[in-house]
Amino acid sequence: MKIGIVGLGLIGASLAGDLRQLGHIVLGTSRQVATCELAIKRGLVDEAGTELDILAQMEAIMICTPIANILPTVAELAKFIAPGTLVTDAGSVKGAIVAAATQIWPHFVGGHPMAGKAESGIDAAELGMFRDQPYVITPVAETVESSIEQLASLVNAMGARLYYATPAEHDQAVAWISHLPVIVSGSLINACVANSDTQGLQLAKDLASSGFKDTSRVGGGNPELGLMM
Ligand code: NAP
Repeated sequence: MKIGIVGLGLIGASLAGDLRQLGHIVLGTSRQVATCELAIKRGLVDEAGTELDILAQMEAIMICTPIANILPTVAELAKFIAPGTLVTDAGSVKGAIVAAATQIWPHFVGGHPMAGKAESGIDAAELGMFRDQPYVITPVAETVESSIEQLASLVNAMGARLYYATPAEHDQAVAWISHLPVIVSGSLINACVANSDTQGLQLAKDLASSGFKDTSRVGGGNPELGLMM
């Protein structure tokens, strides 16, 4: 299959590498020439470029940009991709995306590969990152069945654990196990650094151990993603 990846960051470059290893032709886009060159050099993609229109002939396109850029990217792609092209995304929220994206492109299928780490960007990308991890597909009533099947087969081929949920079910579940922990953990970090008692803060730093390391880990990730979630 010819697969396009928009956004060669942590998730996009990791998906690209896995799909290429499975024998697919993978083209990627990034706004940075250096990222495109690195993706080719690391063998994560067959070709890469800074313009979305290099993806015109793709059979499937995965949008792996920050959440706020997903809908504008669907609208941009819809101007030139072939009818029937599967378009999916990796966004960590689905309610705000899936209904609107399906209106723009009937072959849109919402997706959420539930693997990641605190680091971001192509340097953090890893082969096999989605193996044995949950990957949620979030169709709505209007979603085209054959497009759901296409995405499901890619997810299965990567060795991820496939789940189906409505966008609302997904968002509720992920709010409990991912978004709320990010907010709580980020608030903990903020509360600590806002401590104006410098001596007390230093003592807290000196005493901080595994408990604080565990509870502050998820709040210390990519702040842009956290804010958008
Ligand atoms: P990332 O490493 O920061 O990668 C984001 C990518 O989007 C970069 O390649 C960046 O490329 C591109 N980008 C940034 N701003 C853009 C803009 N304004 N327009 C177009 N492209 C832009 O982030 P990530 O962790 O891979 O997250 C990508 C998506 O996956 C997000 O929607 C997130 O919700 C979802 N997700 C994240 C995780 C996680 O643990 N991190 C897990 C599951 C799903 P250039 O700057 O090179 O153009």
